[in-house]
Amino acid sequence: MNKTQIHKAAEYLEDKNQLICIVMHAYPDGDAVGSALGLYDCLKRAGYADVQVIAPNPYASFLHWMPHNEKVIVAELNKKVADELIQKASLLFCLDFNGFSRTDLLEASLRLSKAVKIMIDHHPQPEGGFDLVFSDTNASSTAEMIYEFIASVWDERLVHLDAAKCLYAGIVTDTGSFSYGCNNPRTYEIVGRLIATGVDGAYIHRLIYSTYSADRMRLLGFCLSEKLVVLPGLRAAYISLSKKDLKRFNYQEGDTEGVVNYALAIKEIELAALFTEKKDHIKVSFRSVGDIDVNELARVHFNGGGHKNASGGKSFSSLDDTVRYFVALLEQKRSLS
Ligand code: 5GP
Ligand code: MN
Repeated sequence: MNKTQIHKAAEYLEDKNQLICIVMHAYPDGDAVGSALGLYDCLKRAGYADVQVIAPNPYASFLHWMPHNEKVIVAELNKKVADELIQKASLLFCLDFNGFSRTDLLEASLRLSKAVKIMIDHHPQPEGGFDLVFSDTNASSTAEMIYEFIASVWDERLVHLDAAKCLYAGIVTDTGSFSYGCNNPRTYEIVGRLIATGVDGAYIHRLIYSTYSADRMRLLGFCLSEKLVVLPGLRAAYISLSKKDLKRFNYQEGDTEGVVNYALAIKEIELAALFTEKKDHIKVSFRSVGDIDVNELARVHFNGGGHKNASGGKSFSSLDDTVRYFVALLEQKRSLS
């Protein structure tokens, strides 16, 4: 990490009694939660008296096992407390996002806050508004960057088992269990250090990926047998889920996590999409292989963004209209190419 920036961060971190808030993006994933709780553990260990962790919304139960999970303040359930903390904080860590709009109901509060804002993130096209930006699109995950940050500002020995479990979970989830975005030897060096603290990789994998409820497993079966639409001519496949579909399987937050990857696992499919009907919008998830840039697709057409091969966004049309729009876009792109 850049020495001048690390020096600046160390300066901002001089006061051990200041209120520090760690903020994650909306509907946080394993990398966001793992990075936040890993950093929390290290800050507490380094002697910071008042560190708070804030998530905009509730998140998947397969992330609840992480150490310190009970400390997370969920803004959707406790907006007043979350807003007050953000206003009182003198230092804010913004993890796994690079624009305030990614925090949904916390956006206004973050923009208003006078705190020093440190961004640590690995998504492309960082936005303004931060005082210190650690942005690395080559990092596998924000969790990997948190390890580097801790090692640079303090010492890697500050990462004990509890923090290591969280950071390991972040790296595992953002690389699809070391299947993409992880061709950098440094990722494995860091993973090696985390394992050396005592992390049981197989056990953590099980906690994340093998703790389905029966409903969630049946929803996956339903998606694949009833809802998967394959468009061979466009090398694309998609799944769309209405509120009614979700209700039928007693949907819980996180139950559709990973579903889109199955559509991408079909031979010759290079772009996969999942459309999920939420309370007031359609959540869109894209995955792609190789040079197909779904970050652009999400950014330009679906109010979102993300990585080149994994992105997401929102649509405010109906579910059917959103799907029709998506298919028409692909047909248009094909006819132009
Ligand atoms: P997922 O499909 O798993 O929700 O998200 C895939 C990737 O896209 C993640 O890296 C996530 O950060 C990003 N992403 C998801 N939704 C949004 C969104 O609404 N806006 C932006 N900018 N990125 C998103
Ligand atoms: Mn991430």
